[in-house]
Amino acid sequence: MVSRLRVSLLLAALVLTGTRGGLAQSAEGPGRRGLEIDFIDVMGGAATLVITPAGESVLIDSGWPGLKDRDPKRIVHVLKDLAGRDHLDHLVTTHWHTDHYGGVDGLNRLIRIDHFWDRGLPEDNTPGLDFPDGPKANDPLGIAYRKASRGKRKALAAGDVLPLQGVEALVLASGGRVIDPARRAGTALASAGNPLCASAPPDQPVDPSDNARSLAILFTLGRFQFFDAGDLTWNVEKQLVCPVDLIGKVDPYQVTHHGMDISNHPTLIQTIEPVVAIMNNGPRKGGAPATVARLRAVGSIQAAYQLHRNAATTTAENTDEALIANKDKAGGAIIRVFVEPDGSSFTVQVGEDGPKRKFASR
Ligand SMILES: [Zn+2]
Repeated sequence: MVSRLRVSLLLAALVLTGTRGGLAQSAEGPGRRGLEIDFIDVMGGAATLVITPAGESVLIDSGWPGLKDRDPKRIVHVLKDLAGRDHLDHLVTTHWHTDHYGGVDGLNRLIRIDHFWDRGLPEDNTPGLDFPDGPKANDPLGIAYRKASRGKRKALAAGDVLPLQGVEALVLASGGRVIDPARRAGTALASAGNPLCASAPPDQPVDPSDNARSLAILFTLGRFQFFDAGDLTWNVEKQLVCPVDLIGKVDPYQVTHHGMDISNHPTLIQTIEPVVAIMNNGPRKGGAPATVARLRAVGSIQAAYQLHRNAATTTAENTDEALIANKDKAGGAIIRVFVEPDGSSFTVQVGEDGPKRKFASR
């Protein structure tokens, strides 16, 4: 009996060792990995790392430039130390603003990047696409991006999918255009029309910036869905749900545009009915009280996380204290999502060692 007990304890110890940290938290052995999504704090920029069931790494946006490579270093820490990857398979840039592709140069110096995906560059000469905010040929960031991605980049149009295993990553918007409804007809969407559109607020003036041209990507694993729309703004957001819903129900919603209120169209949020919202705001960027209130008004949202407390607004205008990853200006704490291999549920963790909470997928 004693030796049998000893064997059991040894086995238990081995299992515990094997399941510590990273992807393994949602795994039940080789070939049974789930999805991992890390919301890396880049102080009001964007850097969302997705690790697929096959172990592929996909970074959506790369934070700010400079600052002694603060953001590339934060990304590499999560990629190597937490996710256990030694290179980046895919870097996706949602649009040409500094807080979304500024980290490319530093990242490219620190790790190997195999594939670059973006909404297009002016020199691609894609009919109908415009580039109001660059990247210009003489802009240092544009030069760095072109150099790092030479021979390794492709543009994504609405309807394209990223070449990943075990998870679908579908581009719903790119360059100001949304996916053809015919592409979504088979998903029980886009057939009857969205009744919420009748009460949609009016459009805003046309957004001439690159925000309106952001990539919007939907990740699907079983019934689990994660939506990241970069900094997409109001009128194009509305086209994703009106007159027909092209998205479907969403589990974690990356609150668009750092939580600014010129994004996060109420009809979109009401239509996708997220289970949780995760906002990549900075201490003084995004996190608009109107957006916080808009998220609170959606009954499906069980928890609205923020990377930072908004230092410019009141406690009541921020989310609950326990759902904020960074309460001081230094920042750096991340928010992690671990999705079960079958997509049936997911766990959200605030910080690397913080409390976890489990949610059922829609
Ligand atoms: Zn941004």
